[in-house]
Amino acid sequence: MAEELDINAPTEELNFDGPSEDLDVFDCPKCGQTIDASADVCRFCGAKIDHAAAQKAAHLLARVDQACSDASYLRNAAVIMLCLPPGILVGLSRNPRFIQHVGFQNTLIGFCIVILLVSSPFPLWTLRWWRKYASLTGGDDDFQNARKVIKAVGTGTAAALLTFGSLLCLVLLFKFAHT
Ligand SMILES: [Zn+2]
Repeated sequence: MAEELDINAPTEELNFDGPSEDLDVFDCPKCGQTIDASADVCRFCGAKIDHAAAQKAAHLLARVDQACSDASYLRNAAVIMLCLPPGILVGLSRNPRFIQHVGFQNTLIGFCIVILLVSSPFPLWTLRWWRKYASLTGGDDDFQNARKVIKAVGTGTAAALLTFGSLLCLVLLFKFAHT
């Protein structure tokens, strides 16, 4: 269950790229080339650089980059999580004696619990992302994609939690009603 451990790691580890202050670049407002924010003039078109505006733009660009890399990390973790249930099912189907031994209800309960454990951090992570980055006004395609990824991961894992949470309740009710 190494995958499960990875996914449940503290959210602080989402910031893979570390502090983004060293990314002091921004897009020239005149020609759109990526240039050093501390330069006096654009080295491509020669436009004069407003330092305050340049720092602000550089900061925004770094935040957008961070938002995109956090989103892609979350997406990869979600993809690993998606592989887990089919993986368990394949494993179980190859070991029918395990189900006989443990009992079908207990196997189902265990399966639900694993899915719930693995998917539970995702809605929190996506909310955290949303609070941190959704207000960024980046017109850039990567950022718009990142927003879509976060929405999909958040709603998908919330749906999985609801589905398997209800299934678990049903199985438990059924189990206790019959003992
Ligand atoms: Zn320029």
